[in-house]
Amino acid sequence: MVPGTGATSSACTTGRGGICQIDHMSAPLRLTFVQSGTKVSDLPASPVEVAFVGRSNVGKSSLINALANQKQLARVSNTPGRTQLLNLFSVDSAGGGAASGGPPTGTVMDLPGYGYAKASKSVRRDWPAMIEGYLLERENLAMVFVLVDGEIGPTKLDTQMLDWLRYNTIPHTVVATKMDKVKSAKRATRRKDLAAGCSLDLGDIVWVSASKGDGIDALRSLVRTWTDTAR
Ligand code: GDP
Repeated sequence: MVPGTGATSSACTTGRGGICQIDHMSAPLRLTFVQSGTKVSDLPASPVEVAFVGRSNVGKSSLINALANQKQLARVSNTPGRTQLLNLFSVDSAGGGAASGGPPTGTVMDLPGYGYAKASKSVRRDWPAMIEGYLLERENLAMVFVLVDGEIGPTKLDTQMLDWLRYNTIPHTVVATKMDKVKSAKRATRRKDLAAGCSLDLGDIVWVSASKGDGIDALRSLVRTWTDTAR
């Protein structure tokens, strides 16, 4: 089973030393910016979409850039909260996408980071509505990847988001970021604590490091599984 999704991954084979290896998954996702908007009605329809959401500064832009192996696709910033729009990307499907005569491409949504304390009052007021409106209204939203900072664990805002997604039965998977910041001696405990803090099992969490590349292939594979319209 793919962690936290209830889906079966067919991409995993047992490689040397019995370690699970993901086939064909090292190629970066071919993400192309499509459009920004503030509400669902601003956006073109999509056959299938996954979304990334998380607290400001959780490492979302770095992660999206790592998935695509690009430096500037999503804006990485030391000023959290600069990405305040719904940013839509197309992701090339196995068939190459509509432009090359294949099936239409699935899409990836980069949602604005929540909880940036220094944002203006009006922005802080509008953000939840923008994110919640999108999550409730977007058709063909197959999976929401909820990013949680692996170094500091789930914050109150993170657990509120998870509770809200559960209440609204929106499919989601928790991705723990910045794995490299957790000392290897402490990782087992941190994995356990973070899963418990999210009211999830250990195996439900996908751990990644955008800086070091850990877990990036596995997450690419998950994104492909969900957005491949040819499956
Ligand atoms: P966003 O606000 O969620 O888009 O977060 P950013 O991608 O802009 O990252 C916030 C800060 O965390 C930046 O200083 C990044 O360099 C840093 N960061 C992001 N991912 C990682 C990671 O995997 N490891 C480490 N050590 N730092 C990271």
